[in-house]
Amino acid sequence: MVTRADIGVIGGSGFYSLLDDAEEIELNTPYGPPSDVVTVGRIGSRSVAFIPRHGRDHRFPPHRIPYRANLWALRALGVRQVLAPSAVGSLKAEYGPGALVIPDQLVDRTSGRVQTYYDTDGAVHVSFSDPYCPAGRAVAVSAARESGWQTVDGGTLVVIEGPRFSTRAESQWFAGNGWSIVGMTGFPEAILARELALCYTSISLVTDHDAGVEAGQGVTHDEVLAFFAQNVVRMRTLVSATVQALPEQRDCLCGSALDGIKLPFELP
Ligand SMILES: [Zn+2]
Repeated sequence: MVTRADIGVIGGSGFYSLLDDAEEIELNTPYGPPSDVVTVGRIGSRSVAFIPRHGRDHRFPPHRIPYRANLWALRALGVRQVLAPSAVGSLKAEYGPGALVIPDQLVDRTSGRVQTYYDTDGAVHVSFSDPYCPAGRAVAVSAARESGWQTVDGGTLVVIEGPRFSTRAESQWFAGNGWSIVGMTGFPEAILARELALCYTSISLVTDHDAGVEAGQGVTHDEVLAFFAQNVVRMRTLVSATVQALPEQRDCLCGSALDGIKLPFELP
């Protein structure tokens, strides 16, 4: 397939209006269709493919998102750098609603999600010690700070299975380990990106304190949605600035994640 985009964004449906000259592309992959049609367009001089993570009508809960199809579809369109904005809960009292975290580590607490492309014809072991792209992280942090956003550079994202929120005990345990934020979609997205030698950067917006960090009844779905809606415009502006500041040529190691590994099939 002809290259259609070099940067991918997987996020909420608030990002549609980011793209100029937008065109919708219906794609299928060996892993089924992605969450929805992929919208390809421009932000400034950069070509961008956008996938609404939960589908346009929000039909996929976190544990049912077609993660493999989404990343595969992006790669097939030519994408090599992926930005992943999402909403998270905070595990630290000092990161309140509105804080932005660009994590540099991840803890997988999901269960039962397919987390590899390489599940037949021999094992493929890719390095995942540093799950995020250092170049993408640096660009996102500086774009956020330039826009005046209180931004945390680094920290650990715990990804839980969902769709339920954490219990107080779980949340206190996460916080006690020094982990920073908790979400439901950051994994296996990050490892699947790495398995396709893509750069992947999480841009995490804190919408609430997780159950164990704040007194009271804990978080409700309505609170998260209301808060996120208020911040959609701000996130959109940040993603746009980050896209335009990403390097045109990759110097990071993400692109060589599969060097020297014999793959059971060719990547798109
Ligand atoms: Zn990279």
